[in-house]
Amino acid sequence: MRISVIDASKRFGDFTALDRVNLDVRSGELLALLGPSGSGKTTLLRIVAGLDWPDDGQVQFDGEDALSRPAGKRRVGFVFQHYALFRHMTVFENVAFGLRAKPRAERPGETEIRRRVDKLLDLVQLRWLAERYPAQLSGGQRQRIALARALAIEPKVLLLDEPFGSLDAKVRKGLRRWLRNLHREIHVTSIFVTHDQEEALEVADRIVVMDKGHIEQIGTPQQVYSNPQTPFVHEFIGESVVLPVFVQDNQVRFDGRPIGIVPKGMADGAATLFARPFDVTILPARAGDADLKGVVKRIHGIGPARRLEIEIGNEQASRTIEIDASRSRQWHVGQAVSVRPEQYHLFPDRL
Ligand code: ATP
Repeated sequence: MRISVIDASKRFGDFTALDRVNLDVRSGELLALLGPSGSGKTTLLRIVAGLDWPDDGQVQFDGEDALSRPAGKRRVGFVFQHYALFRHMTVFENVAFGLRAKPRAERPGETEIRRRVDKLLDLVQLRWLAERYPAQLSGGQRQRIALARALAIEPKVLLLDEPFGSLDAKVRKGLRRWLRNLHREIHVTSIFVTHDQEEALEVADRIVVMDKGHIEQIGTPQQVYSNPQTPFVHEFIGESVVLPVFVQDNQVRFDGRPIGIVPKGMADGAATLFARPFDVTILPARAGDADLKGVVKRIHGIGPARRLEIEIGNEQASRTIEIDASRSRQWHVGQAVSVRPEQYHLFPDRL
């Protein structure tokens, strides 16, 4: 099932939760909606689900209007962070629920229900828990059962809202891989909401980065990480070294001095330079070179890495940046260094 969201906006009173959002979800892909709290991820998911409606815009499933179809008719399966299983039902009965709740004409017979539930429990690798009650399961097991229950109705679309949000970090990591593999097997068009960038980068085919009700960028994990299109995406995904600079006379300047970077056709004016900490080289300072100058303020050594906190600029424009440094050199606090971004992105500051 292909999903298209076209110019969708949603307001709550004066507050715009979604602002003309356009999104195409390809059939069979696993798409992550990633963004900070309040960026509109859940609102967008609820609109696709049919649990909420946009004030303007359209939602189409395979090119057909979905907004006129109620949630029950959209063939959508859900898993939410706190989607409680029915406490008084066994795992088996929880998974069978969607099948038993079908109208009589569509309801499979008891043998068929048993066959399908067993198959789903095999799929989530928890058949051995079929006779347990939800209270006798771990958090991770509950979410896997919730997923089996969502899949029981053979949905065309699977929507997951922070499905692993309430679990501890280690369980979460395991379940991420598990979800990735499961999706490879079942290949149903899936959208999952997360505010955890690591989760999105590891699991998703494509990531939709959202902020303040709009989409900042859509791309593969590689694209959004290596080629962020906006300052927000650069800072939100992965670590960033951030420097306020000024472009003038085909030079990038920090604190009034050129820093050895050519702005490549960028208009003069205030800008911000972003780099990944591992893309910045540090060398002992030499007199006369045109690099950024700094002083080592602190050194941390975590595992094989060496990370330096470096203060650059003078008192008016000083900045502390953190950079991964070569272990083969000796660094000491108070040392004068040259700082050179080898890979970077320059964005003009918006007026
Ligand atoms: P989180 O990661 O915290 O769940 P989110 O990106 O999913 O955030 P949404 O739940 O979509 O964000 O909410 C977007 C904005 O819309 C928030 O500022 C929220 O307060 C507001 N909002 C959501 N639902 C309602 C509502 N029913 N009434 C009023 N405001 C709402």
